[in-house]
Amino acid sequence: MRNPASFFNSIQRPACVVVPRVDVHVQKAMATIYHDRVRYAVMSGGHTGMTGWNSVQDGILIFFGKMKSITYDESRNRATIQPGVRWGEALSQLEPYGVAPMGGRLGDIGTGLLLGGGVSYLAPENGWSTDGVTEMDVILVDGRQVTVNASNQYSDLFRALKGGGSRFGIVTRFEVEPIRVGRRSDKNWYGGVILYPESSAEALIRAVHKFVQTNTDPKAAALFILGYVMQNGKPVASHTVAYFYKGSSLPRDVFGDFLDIPHDFESLAPMSYIEATDVFGAGDDRGFGHRFSGTSFVGEPEKCLKAFRDFQRFATESAHAVNSTVFGLTPIPLHQIETARKKGGNALQPALRPYLSAHWNTVFLEGQEQIPAKVELGLKWLMRRNPPCSGAPLDMNESDATQNVYATYGDYEFLKHVYQKYDPTRFNVRYSQGPIGL
Ligand SMILES: Cc1cc2nc3c(=O)[nH]c(=O)nc-3n(C[C@H](O)[C@H](O)[C@H](O)COP(=O)(O)OP(=O)(O)OC[C@H]3O[C@@H](n4cnc5c(N)ncnc54)[C@H](O)[C@@H]3O)c2cc1C
Repeated sequence: MRNPASFFNSIQRPACVVVPRVDVHVQKAMATIYHDRVRYAVMSGGHTGMTGWNSVQDGILIFFGKMKSITYDESRNRATIQPGVRWGEALSQLEPYGVAPMGGRLGDIGTGLLLGGGVSYLAPENGWSTDGVTEMDVILVDGRQVTVNASNQYSDLFRALKGGGSRFGIVTRFEVEPIRVGRRSDKNWYGGVILYPESSAEALIRAVHKFVQTNTDPKAAALFILGYVMQNGKPVASHTVAYFYKGSSLPRDVFGDFLDIPHDFESLAPMSYIEATDVFGAGDDRGFGHRFSGTSFVGEPEKCLKAFRDFQRFATESAHAVNSTVFGLTPIPLHQIETARKKGGNALQPALRPYLSAHWNTVFLEGQEQIPAKVELGLKWLMRRNPPCSGAPLDMNESDATQNVYATYGDYEFLKHVYQKYDPTRFNVRYSQGPIGL
């Protein structure tokens, strides 16, 4: 079994690992876990940054490493994806058909992303990755299996699973509507990465605020990774931004502000969608603990600038104890929110206004088993001083286990109701780690 992405999740030892090959294996495992009241966890791609969400000490781990099939029905444009598939595999297998499922921005990430919402470079035009899901097979907490979609008797569960995370059941089949992106040889996207010096960071933050508020072109996508790599106990700036446009150039009326900010290096070129998903590599490093925490920003850039200055202070004070740390910003434009609603909506249900989804991700030293107390305090300080803005949900995939992500969702009350309906004894909350607040 491959180690999880965060080293902190390699430390706990389950008493038993169930490696299902068919749904009935999951049904039997859950029925037994439920009957015998055993602690459990589920792992698909293993990429969560939340310690304990895909690992369990002395309990049962359900690991989807053998359920990795992908099929494609060209006549309906539907792909069926089993939970053990990673996005790089899904993209490669569907590439001959010129389509791509909406997944993540790193190939090593797995399908757990769909349950947390999920953001890809296709998001501005097509919604969150979970908005591409059309049907799921779900094993409920007591081992019963149901098929959920937008129009059957389980439409409430379907909606809750689209962004509600791991609390509502175990998904054994995702049916998704992929996006027609073309083949690897079709260089119908343009973009790549630009590296900026420390002196450009604040200009970038002002520019991304303007971009998310004013850009109305859904063919534009960007990911801002402002970060520091620690060298000899000092943070060295590594501010990297990926820009993509579905077209033959980065139009100046969309990207001009970013292109004019002084930068050290740029690598921009025509490329296919599948190549765009690889500009940061697969993200398959192992051996380092990760710790995510999230926030969000609406309106003027001042709050984000303050959060960035706090982050700089955190980076300086943690430099001896960590490998690297990043402050990531993903623009969530109004057209993305409107598209998600048109597709039926998801559990996040943001307010109808653009925002920046933000996270801090700290990567610890190789083999380091515990987060040093001073760094832990620093992370808590960052979260306390920079709470999410109202109506702009936290990204469950990139938040901290102590943050109540559900409380930032527009559909919080609905989610509590659905959880109560499908897990009336609250078994999942009592016997499994995961998002808090239900
Ligand atoms: C370096 C890095 C980069 C990232 N980049 C992005 C990005 O670009 N876009 C983005 O949206 N996210 C990103 N993420 C976050 C990532 O999407 C989430 O961590 C996601 O949950 C990972 O899914 P997984 O299957 O790989 O992980 P896992 O750790 O296997 O699962 C994550 C969670 O989902 C639960 N789960 C998994 N499968 C199932 C299932 N079938 N049924 C029920 N519950 C299940 C697990 O129990 C766990 O709680 C990134 C994370 C890292 C560490």
